[in-house]
Amino acid sequence: MIGLCLKDIVCRKDICLNEGATLKQAIDLMESNGKGVVVILKDAIPIGILTERDIVEIVYSGTDINSPAIKYATKNLITTHETKAIGYALNLIVSNNIRRIIVVDKSGSFIGVITQQDMVKHLEDDFYRSTLKIRHVIEKMQPLIYIDQDSSLNDAIKKMIENKVSAVPILKDSKAVGIITEKDILKVVKNGISLNSLASEFMSHPVITVRLDEPVTHAVEIMNTKNIRRVVVVNSNSTAVAIVTHRDLLRNLESTYTEFIERKLKHTKDILNFLPEMVMEIIDAEEGQAIIWANERALNRFGMTIINKPITDFIPSDKWAIIYGTLCKLGRAENIKVKKDDFIYELSGFFIKTEADLCAGKIQLIIRDITDEVRLYTTDPLTGLYNRRFLNEFLHKELELSKRYHRQLSLAIADIDDFKKLNDTYGHVAGDVVLKAIAKTMLKNVRDSDVVSRYGGEEFVIVMSEIGKETALKAIERIREAISQEKISLFDGSSISITISSGIASYPDDADSSVDLLIAADDRLYKAKREGKNRTIYS
Ligand code: GH3
Ligand code: MG
Ligand code: MG
Repeated sequence: MIGLCLKDIVCRKDICLNEGATLKQAIDLMESNGKGVVVILKDAIPIGILTERDIVEIVYSGTDINSPAIKYATKNLITTHETKAIGYALNLIVSNNIRRIIVVDKSGSFIGVITQQDMVKHLEDDFYRSTLKIRHVIEKMQPLIYIDQDSSLNDAIKKMIENKVSAVPILKDSKAVGIITEKDILKVVKNGISLNSLASEFMSHPVITVRLDEPVTHAVEIMNTKNIRRVVVVNSNSTAVAIVTHRDLLRNLESTYTEFIERKLKHTKDILNFLPEMVMEIIDAEEGQAIIWANERALNRFGMTIINKPITDFIPSDKWAIIYGTLCKLGRAENIKVKKDDFIYELSGFFIKTEADLCAGKIQLIIRDITDEVRLYTTDPLTGLYNRRFLNEFLHKELELSKRYHRQLSLAIADIDDFKKLNDTYGHVAGDVVLKAIAKTMLKNVRDSDVVSRYGGEEFVIVMSEIGKETALKAIERIREAISQEKISLFDGSSISITISSGIASYPDDADSSVDLLIAADDRLYKAKREGKNRTIYS
């Protein structure tokens, strides 16, 4: 929307008359052009404007429609230059409370008219608006103005004038069975129909409705495709509760999202820079998806170089394939975890369809750094090792992979010998120091791919992927040796030595479920304890 200027969307056809025209001619033209407006020109310069609202008022006052139109059309005209941006016109329409603006060229000559409808059609369907529900728009609105089934056209006009509304629905048992709009009045007048006739005979029906909980974009879509200017809002019981017009939508966008719109009008996305999350916009083109924009937070983290790069430079292709598939299918993807460098991110995204043929659409990705959250959730605060929760999940997944790819897997449960005695002798603080020291020694003596966890008080579980019993034994023995030789310094300057006992179990030799593997290793651990501690048992 922002890139366009008024001359791109202005309606130029069948919309003006010369100053000599009658009201009747104006009504006829207004009815045929479907824009609800006629501009009166004098030497190509606009001097007046007549709208459906004016016609309804003229009819209400009983004026002869053969009178000169200009008599009722002279007002303070709001005109604007054809090179102005659409956003500018949106501001004009909203702040001046008008339904259309006259567009002129440099010399002030008439070019055409832009209506609210034209504007709404060009509003981008972006993610802010898709979160905006009809409910939000009508929150500040007045109660529904309606007429009954036995009301006359006159009653309808009266209601419209008195309440300054452009349409009244006809209700039967709280349900809208039809609607009378200014446009219908125009038609009635044009066809010389008595205003004492029943309104229901001339109403439009069935009534197009939207539900309170539907997104505003849905209402916009309906109005655009059906070429109507309003929809009736119903609650969950199908009771009519309000009418939403283009004007309401525009006004709402302006008031509720003033800040957003203003910045948008200035061609900036500053507002997204205020978000605590990182945001990226991705263009979906035939040749793939590329990052076209990122907010400051994202640029700070990933660097300027991500712009114009394929998203797969950023997210691994296999992961992106899943995210993209979900975005295409559901229009959104939520809470997908992606690991990159030393960070863990949670991605949520929206797919925004665009009208242009150049690309299929845009994707807005919201990226949250959840590294700390995940760390808190999966690690043991004392030792910094993974906790039992993580270990169980990891072991389960790792075992599945081992089965699928026919790989071995070994695990060991290690338990500190006589730890209770140590605690009793030196105190709990010393016990904690020992736990930390042992964790460090374990990490130092395993491969990067091994996972060391604090499984319980003074028990550790080490998972070694792709490793059989013998190799696992060597690794655990290496750890046992290192620990037994270590002098752990305590706060008081003294130092102590400690030993561990371990039991090892392997897939597929000993068991094929994580629980059974843990049980087998535990049995061997206790065997190690029984046999004198400071040893590793693997069978
Ligand atoms: P064994 O050689 O048979 O394993 O004997 P043990 O004394 O090591 O085993 P036991 O299970 O009897 O005692 C474990 C002790 O570990 C008891 C508990 O107070 C201590 N413990 C558990 N968690 C912590 C901790 O976080 N810090 C400290 N300091 N001690 C802990
Ligand atoms: Mg124990
Ligand atoms: Mg113990």
